[in-house]
Amino acid sequence: MIPPAFEYLRPNTIPEAIAFLQQYGDDAKILSGGQSLIPMMKFRLARPGYLIDINRISGLSYIKEEGGYLKIGGLTREAELENSLLIHSKYPIIFDTARIIADPQVRNMATLAGNLAHGDPANDHPATMLALGAQVVAVGPQGERVLPIESFFVTLFTTDLQHDEIVSEIRIPTPPPRSGGAYLKLERKVGDFATAGVAVQLTLDGGGLCQNVGIGLTNVGATPVKASKAEESLRGRKLDEATIAQASQLAADEAQPSSDLRGPVEYKKGLVKELTRRALARAYERAGK
Ligand SMILES: Cc1cc2nc3c(=O)[nH]c(=O)nc-3n(C[C@H](O)[C@H](O)[C@H](O)COP(=O)(O)OP(=O)(O)OC[C@H]3O[C@@H](n4cnc5c(N)ncnc54)[C@H](O)[C@@H]3O)c2cc1C
Repeated sequence: MIPPAFEYLRPNTIPEAIAFLQQYGDDAKILSGGQSLIPMMKFRLARPGYLIDINRISGLSYIKEEGGYLKIGGLTREAELENSLLIHSKYPIIFDTARIIADPQVRNMATLAGNLAHGDPANDHPATMLALGAQVVAVGPQGERVLPIESFFVTLFTTDLQHDEIVSEIRIPTPPPRSGGAYLKLERKVGDFATAGVAVQLTLDGGGLCQNVGIGLTNVGATPVKASKAEESLRGRKLDEATIAQASQLAADEAQPSSDLRGPVEYKKGLVKELTRRALARAYERAGK
C-alpha cells in the first residue's frame, strides 16, 4: 500500500528539527525507524503533511552508564540493544524485551524512543520502562524536560510529549547490587504483538527480602499498566510461593484488557497472572546470581 503524499524534511541538528516542528505544528511528524509511523500512514491511520526525518542528526545513538543512570540515545535501535554486552550482562530485562520485538528487519530500524513515543499499549518497551522506573528526556523550544515514565503514557497513542518535542534520551537508574529483572510475553506467532506481557525488576536487601520492585504490563489496557498493588504487596517481603501467588493475582486484577482476536478478558487476565508468577521467579533468580 502507498501512503498519502507528504513533504520530506531532513534536519541535521535538533534545533533545526524543532524549528520544523514549530513551523508545521500538528501537520508534522518525526520519523525515526518508521516501523510504526509508515505502517500507520499506509493504512491511512495517520496523514502527516510533513515528515521530519531525524536520522541525520548525529550523537543520538549510544548506550552508556553515566552519573548513576543507563543512558540510551534517542536514535538507538532495537538491534543495538539486543547486541550490547552491557545490556546483556547488566540489564537482562531490556535484552529480553528487545530480542522478541517483531523480526530482525524491524529491529534493525526501530528505536526505543519511537517505541515509547508511539504510545501504543501493545508495544513491549513501555512495560519494561515502567518496571525500571525510567525517565524520558524530551527537548523542545524551551529546552529539556525530564519526564517520569509513570506519567508519560496519557491514553491510547497519546503521551506527555508536546508536538514540538523530540525524545533525545531515555534514562534508567543503575540497579543496585542484588537486582534482577525479566520480561515475558505470549505472542500468537513469532514477531506478533503481545497477547499480554509482564516486566519485573526487583532488588533484594542483604537478608534476601524484596527491597524494591517494579511491575509493568503490556497490552492489557488503554495505556501500559503499572501494577502498583502487586508491587506494594512485595515490598519488604520474602519472595516465596505464597507472596508470588498473591502478587500475581493482584497484577491480574489490575489488568484491564478487552476481548479481541487475541482472546477474551478472562484468558488475558489469567495470562497476566501466570506471566507475573514466572517473571517474578526469573527476576528473583537473576537477582540472586
Ligand atoms: C511487522 C511489525 C511488527 C512489530 N512488532 C512489534 C512488537 O512485537 N513489539 C513492539 O513493541 N513493537 C512492535 N512493532 C512496532 C515497532 O517496533 C515500534 O513501534 C517501533 O519501535 C517504533 O520506533 P520507530 O523508531 O520505528 O518509530 P517511528 O515509526 O519512526 O515513529 C513512531 C511514532 O513515534 C514518534 N517518534 C519517533 N521517534 C521519536 C522521537 N525521538 N521523539 C519524539 N517522537 C518520536 C513518531 O513521530 C511517530 O509518531 C512492530 C512493527 C512492525 C512493522
